[in-house]
Amino acid sequence: MDAHELTPEQKALQTHELLNQNYKRLTLDTSRRTPMHELISTMLSHRTTHKDEEKAYDTMLERFGDWEGVMNADVDELADAIQTTRYPGQKAPQIQQTLRLIKEERGEMNIDFLKDMPVDEAMAWLTKLPGVGLKTATLLLLFNFKKPVMPVDTHVFRVSQRVGIIGAKVTANKAHDILLQMLPEDPVELFNFHIHMLRHGQKICTWYTPKCEECVLSHICNYYQDVRAKGIDKAA
Ligand code: SF4
Repeated sequence: MDAHELTPEQKALQTHELLNQNYKRLTLDTSRRTPMHELISTMLSHRTTHKDEEKAYDTMLERFGDWEGVMNADVDELADAIQTTRYPGQKAPQIQQTLRLIKEERGEMNIDFLKDMPVDEAMAWLTKLPGVGLKTATLLLLFNFKKPVMPVDTHVFRVSQRVGIIGAKVTANKAHDILLQMLPEDPVELFNFHIHMLRHGQKICTWYTPKCEECVLSHICNYYQDVRAKGIDKAA
């Protein structure tokens, strides 16, 4: 099969189907973390491993007790508490500003109200918070409130580009809209697509030397057919 004969939408749907067959189907369990936990953890997770993010989160709450304590802490002490993450000096004031905005606007440290908000409004509300971009907002809205959005992290983005679902010049923010238009508007399907692409990017379609020979997507993948199968870039 010539991978280029498929439209990007066909590739998206086939990728979803093939990864569903290859990886375990998951249910969307929204009780994993509270929305506040998810929001602040996702802010901590930027360029940080999951283990280090969790360590920072636990240390922060052990040291300052609760969200009020974190908001009112000395900013340098907060940066010290989250030092296992990357850029603690940037993240500490952003977390405090975010907590202040939530408290000022809602009167409490709680963002459960987002559940009843339309997706666009919820997205706009979240992305006005300091340090909260599209990725954080979509992760929170999908994982905690089952909203039909598509978090585009580095793995979703890379695999989508290599297969040819999105073009080479598409930005991560634009990729969010493009993928949403192609995939079923169902939070559980979007959740599975996101998690499966993430796993595939971590295990098979890695940044350096993707394991194309083991990949269930190779017959529909532009990168494989244009580059790897021809031996043009063995080190890519
Ligand atoms: S064939 Fe290779 S480049 Fe294409 S998705 Fe699979 S691992 Fe990635």
